[in-house]
Amino acid sequence: MMLKVGVVGTGMIGQDHIRRMTTVLAGVEVTAVTDVDVETAKRVAAALPGAVVHGSGEDLIADPGVDAVVVCSWGPTHEQYVLAAIAAGKQVFCEKPLATTEEACRRIVEAEVAHGRRLVQVGYMRRYDAAYRALKAVVDSGRIGTPLMMHCAHRNAGVPSFYSKESAITDTAVHEIDMVRWMFGEEITAVRVLVPRKSRNGGDLQDPLLLIMEMAGGAIVDVEISVNIRYGYDIRGEVVGEDGTAALGELSPVAVRVSGQLAAPVPADWRERFLRAYDIELQEWIDSIATGGPPVGPSAWDGYAAAVVSDAGVAALRGGERVDVSLMPRPPLYEVAS
Ligand code: NAP
Repeated sequence: MMLKVGVVGTGMIGQDHIRRMTTVLAGVEVTAVTDVDVETAKRVAAALPGAVVHGSGEDLIADPGVDAVVVCSWGPTHEQYVLAAIAAGKQVFCEKPLATTEEACRRIVEAEVAHGRRLVQVGYMRRYDAAYRALKAVVDSGRIGTPLMMHCAHRNAGVPSFYSKESAITDTAVHEIDMVRWMFGEEITAVRVLVPRKSRNGGDLQDPLLLIMEMAGGAIVDVEISVNIRYGYDIRGEVVGEDGTAALGELSPVAVRVSGQLAAPVPADWRERFLRAYDIELQEWIDSIATGGPPVGPSAWDGYAAAVVSDAGVAALRGGERVDVSLMPRPPLYEVAS
């Protein structure tokens, strides 16, 4: 059985997910696409035998030739398509963010709870990265004892011109926000943002930033966000436990020793660093649908929680204060660890 997927949004990540669904992954075919940019949608569909181009996301979701939906459009449009998919009773994989406001995420959670069955998965792909999974396995095993702290770094070589002050939290650190909730298996209760000396490479941006997150169990997580580090894309994470530490390993497949120096390549960007994580993320989503089970990846609740923490991070950045994170009570639908 092939899962028939419709893709809403054929921009950069939409085309990349179509590429992996058509050339890398198993058990899936892309049967429909749509985009506000109709010419792009037609061009993308031309390379997909039999794929239909729909005039709107709602038409695509209603198409009986679409079993499940992948939403890759611009963030502010996610809510309408995720709600339409829930109303149609179809599984939906939504690229992050789930929606761009806390209220919109809450509406999605409430719609899914009213439906009574999990249909929504959010594209936080760090959970599928082999290094992060190995790190979590060590933490969960108890080998380093109770985790007390985590040190993270999220370093981009550079960022596009439309990247704003708040993007450091909402687009960049949001991946660490989801990751640490998953890594520690608990919610974030408060955030602070410290502002160090400004890099001359950052233009008008306040770069870098240091995001501090307090976990419900008392652990503290710090995230260095440097988005003009120049040398490459560098993601770091180290958990400090009572009895030891565990860190993401160096991922380079080669190390060169020459002329008195040891050198290894650094990934150029997030596509290169997380290529396999994106593959595994979508394959596991496809497989969960094929086996009739609920999606096991980041849920609508995870998307909602990330949005609330992200908003608190933006408030902390603007106001310079410690900001409490206040979540609504978690509905029983999301009680199973995700
Ligand atoms: P993009 O290249 O701008 O693609 C978005 C596409 O959606 C564009 O073709 C856009 O058309 C189209 N679109 C806008 N409104 C639409 C609507 N109402 N219905 C259908 N299509 C619509 O952006 P992107 O970089 O692919 O990002 C898309 C989403 O993926 C964002 O939410 C982003 O945060 C997320 N993303 C996640 C990751 C990750 O690491 N998980 C990485 C990259 C992106 P126009 O250009 O004409 O507006």
